[in-house]
Amino acid sequence: MGFFDKIVQGLKKTRDALTGQVAALFQPGRALGEEDYEALETALLRADVGPVATDRLLASVRATLKDPSYEGSAAEALRAAVERLLADAEVHVPSVSAAAVSPQAATSAPGRPHVTLVIGVNGTGKTTTIAKLASHYRQRGESVLLVACDTFRAAAADQLEVWAKRAGVEIHRQTEGADPAAVAFDGIARAKSRDFDRVLVDTAGRLHVKTNLMAELEKIRRVIDKALPGAPHETLLVLDATIGQNGLSQAREFDKALKLSALALTKLDGTAKGGVVLAIAETLHLPIRWVGVGEGMDDLIPFDASEYAKGLVGAP
Ligand code: GDP
Repeated sequence: MGFFDKIVQGLKKTRDALTGQVAALFQPGRALGEEDYEALETALLRADVGPVATDRLLASVRATLKDPSYEGSAAEALRAAVERLLADAEVHVPSVSAAAVSPQAATSAPGRPHVTLVIGVNGTGKTTTIAKLASHYRQRGESVLLVACDTFRAAAADQLEVWAKRAGVEIHRQTEGADPAAVAFDGIARAKSRDFDRVLVDTAGRLHVKTNLMAELEKIRRVIDKALPGAPHETLLVLDATIGQNGLSQAREFDKALKLSALALTKLDGTAKGGVVLAIAETLHLPIRWVGVGEGMDDLIPFDASEYAKGLVGAP
C-alpha cells in the first residue's frame, strides 16, 4: 500500500466525522448559506481542528466561494485551504537543517551522523515511532544507532532493544539508573567513531515529575551538542493524535523547554480527531514530519500536506 492509500485509510474516522454531516454542502455547484457555514464549522470542530484553525479555514472557503470566477466545489475550496494552512506553518519554522526538512534527504556531511532527539510522554508511541524510523532509514541503506537514554525504567531499554533487533539496527544502552546525559554522550561518541549515518536518541517520558524531566531533557540536549557540535539536528516530539486538542498544551510545554523542530503524530488511524494536525500547525507553527497510521513497522509515513488534505476532505 502506498503512502497516499495509508493516509486515506488512516484518516477514515476523521474524514467520516468531518464530512458525514456536511456531505450535501460538498456537492459541486452548491452555493453555501449561513447555516451551511455553521454546519461546516461544527464539523471542523468535531474533527478537533480547533477554533483558531477552524476560523481561518472558514474565512478561506468563504473568500474562495465568493469569487464569481471560481468553478470548484466547497470541498475543493476546503482542501486548498487546508493545504495553505499547512504550508504557512512550514514557512514559520525557524532554522531546521535541510536533512531534517526532508526526511527522504540523504544524510551526508556536514553534521554526520545526523542526530534526532526523540521526546514525548510515555504511552504516546515514542518507542514504536523510533523503531519505525530506524526501519525507514535502514531500508534506505543508512546505518542507524539507537541510544537508550530512558535509564529510569530498565523495561524501556529492553523494549527498545527488541525493536532494534526487529528493525535490524544497533542499540547503545547502559545500566538502569545511569545518567541519561552520559549515555547520550557515549552513544554519540560511539556513532562518530563507528561512522554511523544516523542516531535516534530515546528519552524518558514520565510526566509526574515534569520539572525534572524537562531539566533532564535539556541536559541531554546540551551534552549531545558537546559530543557533536550542532547536534541534535532534529528535536522531534512524538504526540498522540487520539488526545486531540490536549496535545497542544503538551507540545507547548516541550517546545518552551526544548525548542522543538518537528512533530511525529501517532495513532492517526485510531481517532476521529485527526483534524488536530491543523490546530497544531496553526497555533504552534511546528511542522508535522511524520504520522503514525498503525502498529506495523511500515505504518509511519512522511507527512505530506497535499495528501493529508485529500485524505481529510475526500479524494477528488
Ligand atoms: P511509548 O510509551 O511512548 O514508548 O509508547 P509505545 O511505543 O510503547 O506505544 C504505545 C502503544 O501505542 C503500543 O501499543 C503501540 O503499538 C501503539 N501505537 C504506537 N503508534 C501507533 C500508531 O500510529 N497507530 C496505532 N494504532 N497504534 C500505535
